[in-house]
Amino acid sequence: MTAAVHPRLQPHFDAVIARNPGEKEFHQAVYEVILSLTPIAGKRPEYLQWSILKRICEPERQIIFRVPWLTDAGEVEINRGFRVQFNTALGPYKGGLRFHPSVNLSIIKFLGFEQVFKNSLTGMPIGGGKGGSDFDPKGKSEQEIMRFCQSFMTELYRHIGEYRDVPAGDIGVGGRELGYLFGQYKRITNQYESGVLTGKGLSWGGSQVRTEATGYGTVFFAQEMLGTKGQSFDGKRVVVSGSGNVAIYAIEKVHQLGGTVIACSDSNGYVVDEQGIDLDLLKDIKEVRRARLSEYAERRGSDVRHVADGSLWDVPCQIALPCATQNELRGSAAKALLDNGVELVAEGANMPCTPKAIDLFQGAGILYAPGKASNAGGVATSALEMQQNASRDSWSFEDTEARLQQIMTAIHTRCVETAEEFGEPGNYVMGANLAGYMKVANAMVALGVI
Ligand code: NDP
Repeated sequence: MTAAVHPRLQPHFDAVIARNPGEKEFHQAVYEVILSLTPIAGKRPEYLQWSILKRICEPERQIIFRVPWLTDAGEVEINRGFRVQFNTALGPYKGGLRFHPSVNLSIIKFLGFEQVFKNSLTGMPIGGGKGGSDFDPKGKSEQEIMRFCQSFMTELYRHIGEYRDVPAGDIGVGGRELGYLFGQYKRITNQYESGVLTGKGLSWGGSQVRTEATGYGTVFFAQEMLGTKGQSFDGKRVVVSGSGNVAIYAIEKVHQLGGTVIACSDSNGYVVDEQGIDLDLLKDIKEVRRARLSEYAERRGSDVRHVADGSLWDVPCQIALPCATQNELRGSAAKALLDNGVELVAEGANMPCTPKAIDLFQGAGILYAPGKASNAGGVATSALEMQQNASRDSWSFEDTEARLQQIMTAIHTRCVETAEEFGEPGNYVMGANLAGYMKVANAMVALGVI
């Protein structure tokens, strides 16, 4: 942690650390929000009354459960499942499920905490939650994935529901896993309750644009940021980290808007393709064959480099979109990007930049957007999926994409105006955190101490 917390807020932060020992990702997420509350600490005590801050940092409910499943060889495996139901001041808990070996309570709590403010920023009636498991889908057979998802849902089903808690995908959980999860929920409950999960397939209650929404939304948000400087994506060199759901559709939208993505990555390295990433090839490798990115260089030809060791952020670019995972862009990477003339960083992933990296970007005066604003298009489109499910309706791709773009523009305006109102023009971190926090706090006061 770099900058100092306001003295009135420091005891709250100390209490979070003491009550949640060792949960460093959760501490980091809370730190970022508390730092942004500095302008209200002195001037707007109504936003700290009735211990709102203390209550907002304490999940309403934390569920941890055993997930037993059988491998193809007949061995019994045990994973740990999580669902942290953080806050329902604005609506049912809403947030994705992550399947990755690094998952633990701290990671799920940081994601759930961020989700509360992100969901508030979207302007939609959704609270915040997050879940997942330390299960590693890599190298598992189709049948093993299905058995795991069925076992996971056999416990989770009793905690979720259209008006209670609505999970979606995240790292390691895409259309395939959501299908198995929804199938098991439907079987156990004997109801076709479409609104219980989002990110569903188009033929079984899903929404157009949900697959593309987080990546597209991040780029729409970045486009708004560029607009404040009279610029656009046209002709820009862009680097995107990751090659999963968010990264692929961020790349697609950048190319549609006239920019060129020249590098992307996975957890085994990165590729540099000066002609622009070939999306058909990337989708075939990552979405269809679920293979490694090194295959991209082998199939694309000699002009493309695959770098197994090294930092993607050393590749010179004007725009950087971190779309892989938390804390993937540290101080040294931020310095390399700035030395190479980066002009804008917008987060597609959750908390990909460390506090040190954010300090460096803000100190250099470049455009920087935190994920809870710039990647909110995914959950916003999930809320559109819930609307379609509730009204037994489905909208066209064009209509849904237009709504997504309007939502991203509105979130951008909310961030800009809030930052200006509190004397921090251009500070998207403060704008996002303050706007997100104030809306939740107002609702929590109205609902009483619960
Ligand atoms: P995917 O599982 O589809 O893709 C994740 C990508 O990031 C993969 O390329 C993966 O590489 C890489 N990655 C994951 N962990 C690491 C790691 N520890 N080090 C290096 N690379 C890593 O996930 P999503 O695209 O859905 O999610 C990416 C980020 O976006 C996450 O932070 C998620 O929370 C956030 N997000 C996602 C939303 C969504 O709608 N999906 C909504 C809002 C935010 P590999 O294949 O090698 O593991």
